[in-house]
Amino acid sequence: MPLDTLVHRASRPNPVVSIEQAQALLLEHYGLQGQLHSLGSQQDLNFRVESAQHRWVLKFCHDDAPQALAAQHAAMRHLAGHGLAVPQALAALDGRDTLAVHLGQQRLQMRVLSYLDGQPLTRLKHLGPVAVARIGQLCGEVDRALLDFQHPGLARTLQWDPRHAHKLLDHLLPALDDPGQRGRVVEMAFQAQRRVGAVSANLPLQAVHLDITDDNSVWQRDADLRWQLAGLIDFGDLVHTWRVADLAATCAALLHHGHGDPFAVLPAVAAYHRVNPLEESELRALWPLVVLRAAVLVSSSARQLSVAPDNDYIRANVEHEWEIFDIATAEPFELMEAAIFSSVGQSIPESGGDGILPLFAHVTHSTVCRVDLSVLSEHFADGNWEQANIDERLLSDAAAGSGWACTGYGEYRLSRTRIDTCAASATCALHVQVQAPPGTKLQAPWAGTLKRLADASVVLEGASLSLHLWGLDCPSPAGTVLAAGAPLGKVDGSLLVQLCRSPDVSPPLFCTPARAAAWQSLCPSPARVLGMDCDAPLPPDAGLLLQRRDASFARSQKHYYQAPPQIERGWRNHLIDMHGQSYLDMLNNVAVLGHGHPRMAQVAARQWSLLNTNSRFHYAAIAEFSERLLALAPPGFDRVFLVNSGTEANDLAIRLAWAASGGRDMLSMLEAYHGWSVATDAISTSIADNPQALSTRPDWVHPVMAANSYRGTFRGPDCTAGYVRSVDDTLRQLDEQGRQLAGFICEPVYGNAGGIALPEGYLQQVYDRVRARGGLCIADEVQVGYGRLGEYFWGFEQQGVVPDIITMAKGMGNGHPLGAVITRREVAEALEAEGYFFSSSGGSPVSCRIGLAVLDVMAEEGLWENAKVVGGHFKARLQGLLDQHPLVGAVHGSGFYLGLELVRDRHSLAPATQETALLCERLRELGIFMQPTGDHLNILKIKPPMVTTRQSVDFFVDCVAQVLDEIQG
Ligand code: PMP
Repeated sequence: MPLDTLVHRASRPNPVVSIEQAQALLLEHYGLQGQLHSLGSQQDLNFRVESAQHRWVLKFCHDDAPQALAAQHAAMRHLAGHGLAVPQALAALDGRDTLAVHLGQQRLQMRVLSYLDGQPLTRLKHLGPVAVARIGQLCGEVDRALLDFQHPGLARTLQWDPRHAHKLLDHLLPALDDPGQRGRVVEMAFQAQRRVGAVSANLPLQAVHLDITDDNSVWQRDADLRWQLAGLIDFGDLVHTWRVADLAATCAALLHHGHGDPFAVLPAVAAYHRVNPLEESELRALWPLVVLRAAVLVSSSARQLSVAPDNDYIRANVEHEWEIFDIATAEPFELMEAAIFSSVGQSIPESGGDGILPLFAHVTHSTVCRVDLSVLSEHFADGNWEQANIDERLLSDAAAGSGWACTGYGEYRLSRTRIDTCAASATCALHVQVQAPPGTKLQAPWAGTLKRLADASVVLEGASLSLHLWGLDCPSPAGTVLAAGAPLGKVDGSLLVQLCRSPDVSPPLFCTPARAAAWQSLCPSPARVLGMDCDAPLPPDAGLLLQRRDASFARSQKHYYQAPPQIERGWRNHLIDMHGQSYLDMLNNVAVLGHGHPRMAQVAARQWSLLNTNSRFHYAAIAEFSERLLALAPPGFDRVFLVNSGTEANDLAIRLAWAASGGRDMLSMLEAYHGWSVATDAISTSIADNPQALSTRPDWVHPVMAANSYRGTFRGPDCTAGYVRSVDDTLRQLDEQGRQLAGFICEPVYGNAGGIALPEGYLQQVYDRVRARGGLCIADEVQVGYGRLGEYFWGFEQQGVVPDIITMAKGMGNGHPLGAVITRREVAEALEAEGYFFSSSGGSPVSCRIGLAVLDVMAEEGLWENAKVVGGHFKARLQGLLDQHPLVGAVHGSGFYLGLELVRDRHSLAPATQETALLCERLRELGIFMQPTGDHLNILKIKPPMVTTRQSVDFFVDCVAQVLDEIQG
């Protein structure tokens, strides 16, 4: 078919068939009855037919290519034979699967296809790399299966066949009214065409679907709410053409899911290549074909809209297609080509590069010191990498001796790390900065032409490489042709040096880790040109390290995330991986002062250099720290035990209760966690920590109902009596058996459920009952104490009670192993009847000094106030989510101990467990560490370092809101 006929067809209005007409035809030819729902289509007319038991798709199209329809049906049968889920054509009453019908002037083809259950992913706000890869894999599977598929109906002229893109665009471009837009499309299509033309003779040909997209694949959510592919539909573009055109169509469609990043479609390329390897010519043609597809999309929609201005389907697509075009052309072709090669584990074959002369004729690498600016550099401490021009200062310091120093090529620089943003930090250096003695002369390393760019660089453009220099004093004007070895100029101080294989590309000085491989293949190391050992070592492979951990470190000690980043540095409330990417730490209630606090390092180093020993020796720190802790406790507390962890503190508290009461039976609250030792594990019944918890209680442990006023047995403001009754029931049974109660332990703010306050007056009433029986009341303040709650220093203050024993750990040492039991003298001394208490490093001089410093810094930096003020803002912002996001059931807690509880229904409170897992996973992609908690794992337990800022809080809440939107669609 000639192309102008095709263009005429491409701009023809859709068939018009009323629902009544369609129903009548369906009954007449297929004997089918059902409800009809219109489905959108670019050129055809489609209905979903629903009967009581079945669903079908009824399709009408113009009657000009019956052979093409036959080919589609044959291809669908062929693919089904290869195990792929695709619709099948239904035979009409007369046995045919395609029927010619005449409606007024219209000559149409009618057919009925089986319906695939599921939905397309087109409008999904976020399609992760797994789904992107799955679509790429589907494309590869379909192409592999169609390799031997032949049909006369495949030989047709189709507007989406990129072999006609050039001619088609000539026809369509005038429909783009805006000259600016038209100019861009023309320019990009021209470049793309040139690149495809260079390899087109080598591109393999075969039958392809040519529209394997998020729109034409149907998906269903599995039990974890992850999208699983259910099948492929719409074979309307089936044609015989370049095989790689199929993948290009897929990539183009996926572009708008990438949040503006063309690299987001690369998992589809990699997945395709795994099931159906691409040839070098195809890897080169792929991105130009994506751009051509985008150019055809925008121009053909403009054309169609001019013919059918009322077609909402086309109108809705126009914006979407411009987005595809913009993203497809956002990066240079050269970069996308390099990225495609690296996504399939290949590199672009290098050309040239021989006979390079050194830029500095008289320097040997032994005289040049490479300064370490990486994440682990010893030059960086106490956040000094945030200072302006720190890298340049360190470089010039390093040059102080010999006059020479250089930075590392390919180094992930800490000074480039950005915080509180979901954009990846451009940390990878694609250049080298050289500090050289003033006046050092440079020579042209190869023959080339001088250019001067707007970014103040001088470029020596050679046959296969361009040398970009900043900071060069170069007398020659642009356009000067230099021979290899000719004088290039001189350097006064520091020089930035970058190589680029493509003369048309102006590379950035730094790029993000995801782009590093592609950019590095375009901008190779200047080591040879410089004659210096300037290549930074590669960062270690986090995956290999994880394998070593798994092979040596006992598995019951889990790690966060399946493929966690390697975290080796922290600063304040952020953690930093080996590529210099920052993560907002919303998990670490231990590092109260934040990470990398200089005072911790100083105090520990000083005390280590003096003495570290055990508490049987006599030294000042132990008395000072004990006094400080007692000063923080309510009146009446006068004795301290120092241990190394919360587990130890609670274990010791139980022993104290046993000793002081003479009993053994302990009441504990269900769903709580108190530690891992035999005794603390016995009283811990959090299912999330120990799935067997409830069935393995020893007989001295008596769990009482979790007093959860949000989702517990009793709810709302008047639920106290119900929970106290449950305690009474347990106590009555113990009384009846004549058992002496030892005590009751609980967190005074219900931590496992995200910091819900206990019902009003609950602890008062329970403590009274326990004490009336000679038992002791233990407040486990390991998580909630020490000022984290903002309003209160200790959690029990919220309930207006005073316990007999306070246990504390975690934040006390800011991560240094340190725990305490604070009690009264008579309780403490009861233990003496059982012998001495000694913990080899509990209360050591180093631990005490750190404990003291933590309290000093908390006071000096106003962290309690920060918990109150910023924590208050935090809670208010989380509460603001309640109005917009139905998944948010409640906001618990206060200060920097908050819980965001997600539910599927605010009445039944059905926990949104899978949604919470998806949320946490996605937050990590956005640069936030957050984990679910609670027995249903449906609560975000928010307990960040107490230095957390308002900016971080806003970043966090904005990201949570964004992801909730994505999840809810
Ligand atoms: N009590 C509570 C409330 C806790 O949350 C924890 C630790 N998560 C512990 C005790 C045990 O503390 P550690 O890990 O320091 O032994």
